[in-house]
Amino acid sequence: MAAPGENLQINSDRLWDSIMEMAKIGPGIAGGNNRQTVTDEDGEGRHLFKRWCEAAGLEMGLDEMGTMFARREGTDPELPPVYVGSHLDTQPTGGKYDGVLGVLGGLEVVRSLNDLGIKTRHPIVVTNWTNEEGARFAPAMMASGVFAGVLDQADVYGHVDKAGKKFGEELERIGWKGSEKVGERKIHAFFELHIEQGPILEDEGIDIGVVTHGQGLKWLQVTLTGKEAHTGSTPMPKRRNAGLGMARVIELVHEIAMDYQPDAVGAVGHMEVYPNSRNIIAGRTVFTIDIRSPEKEVLDAMDGRIREGIDTICEALDIKYQIEQVGHFDPVTFDKGCVKAVRDAAERLGYTHRNIVSGAGHDACWINRVAPTAMVMCPCVDGLSHNEAEEITKEWAAAGADVLFHAVVETAEIVA
Ligand SMILES: [Zn+2]
Repeated sequence: MAAPGENLQINSDRLWDSIMEMAKIGPGIAGGNNRQTVTDEDGEGRHLFKRWCEAAGLEMGLDEMGTMFARREGTDPELPPVYVGSHLDTQPTGGKYDGVLGVLGGLEVVRSLNDLGIKTRHPIVVTNWTNEEGARFAPAMMASGVFAGVLDQADVYGHVDKAGKKFGEELERIGWKGSEKVGERKIHAFFELHIEQGPILEDEGIDIGVVTHGQGLKWLQVTLTGKEAHTGSTPMPKRRNAGLGMARVIELVHEIAMDYQPDAVGAVGHMEVYPNSRNIIAGRTVFTIDIRSPEKEVLDAMDGRIREGIDTICEALDIKYQIEQVGHFDPVTFDKGCVKAVRDAAERLGYTHRNIVSGAGHDACWINRVAPTAMVMCPCVDGLSHNEAEEITKEWAAAGADVLFHAVVETAEIVA
């Protein structure tokens, strides 16, 4: 495959200006954005993106989930396209870059190809996946999930927001429900540029995260049942303390996660104590264990050890337990060839880089199931995201988009 050469770079001013222009649509209250999925603001953002795509000579496709596919023709139109993109929707108090950088970075790739008069054998398609955030309508990564056959289209059309409005009807109302069947496109490869949403790259002063894996997760909801009793008059040996059981399980989860460093994590975030009274020993506790690892074997091993540990803890305290798995996402191993294209691009451009695991879910995690996929990450200030104060520098954005550019162009094959 032809290498594009290290002199080729995107136009960082144009990329930055476009991000700032998009951020004017659905402004937040604290400098970020509120451009939630299938709202009027989302519709307006889509129109702007479409205008830019058409100005760059791209042809827009739209599927029944509202996902936008802007195509730059290849010299061999029969070849499956290289896809690049992310999402334009935001959290209700979201930042200007989460998702947007990946879509507009993709647009900048084709704008730069146009400027440089470069043709590629494979077509290139810049994509805006609908409802990545899942804030207004659960679940997250909705359209890419339907595309990959993980979620059911008819089912998600019926999902409602807090006001009782249905996703499918809102998509239609804003005028962005297309007629193309979802998931029928052949994808040669998919690349997603995204801000890290964590602190590692900034802390280590590294330009580029080469994303090798996406973390898998399990959520286990645990109910411990002991006996409510007076905190003053019940002798210690007679207590069946569900609160103490919960405390021991929290400790256990932490210890187990520490045994699988550096990548595994575990915590109890959600806790309920009944009856939650100052002078009553807790008779029942309900809490959720969240464990994550990029390796399936590790995730399964953690799960097994936690279940065993809970059994031992509860036996010692004479309390009963129930464990229900309420969430699950298998770890993602991104495609070796696509990951190499990202790493080679960073190397060729002289950017510092390291392998990184994505702690958050992304559209790329679903698309990886149906096509070779990889992600490029750039740092974000203090690792802050899903927050209006989310910030990146123009240089970080440019480095990420440059790496995206080279990875995409190499995979789409330059025509000499
Ligand atoms: Zn995102």
